[in-house]
Amino acid sequence: MATVTFVAPPAVTPTPKPTPPPSSNKLIAFGFDDGPSRYTPRLLDGLKFRNAKVTFFVLSNRVGSNAATIKRAYDEGHEIGNHSWNHPSLNRLSWNSIIKQISWTNSEIRKITGETPKLLRPPYGSSNRNVTRAAGSQGMSVVFWDVDPRDWQYRNAARVKNNILRAAHDGAIIVIHDTHSTSVTGALQAIDELKGRGYSVVTISEMFRLKGQSMVNGAAYRRAK
Ligand code: ZN
Repeated sequence: MATVTFVAPPAVTPTPKPTPPPSSNKLIAFGFDDGPSRYTPRLLDGLKFRNAKVTFFVLSNRVGSNAATIKRAYDEGHEIGNHSWNHPSLNRLSWNSIIKQISWTNSEIRKITGETPKLLRPPYGSSNRNVTRAAGSQGMSVVFWDVDPRDWQYRNAARVKNNILRAAHDGAIIVIHDTHSTSVTGALQAIDELKGRGYSVVTISEMFRLKGQSMVNGAAYRRAK
């Protein structure tokens, strides 16, 4: 259960704090890998409540039983990215196998959302020139991260939250997994704190768009500038 303290407004009229213009808002993006899972609906509920948008890098061998969850995420304004068919190290595969891993997954996602993913997150962050070129040939950019709370290692929501908050910065891309209940809870708690610090939580593509940076096919990104 999240502990959220609601403070009653003061009786006197406070001096209104100046609101910074939207262009100076800090932006941060979460990329949830390896799902969907049985915890993803709870994550979606929490994101909706917080008006936060994220990117889901889904495995297409999990799509079958989770199509409704992917459709819901897409309909609620989240971005659906490609995390391969079955989580191999893409840099160890032949060109043709890399293309299959990417294009099969794009096809499965397109059947659900009607939209082809623009972003590939290679499993384990394992990449090489063939992987980025293959992504480019499918009209995609490669996305890594520059904030890693190691949530798969620390199955503790408070630790996941604190690891995110310690490393958070404007333009950060966070790697996290919606396959662990503790990661979902930790992410939602971190989002509460980040919003208090003036961050908007947006999809990866939206963060680059709002910062006026284009994402180029076949290029790799770790953060927005
Ligand atoms: Zn993964």
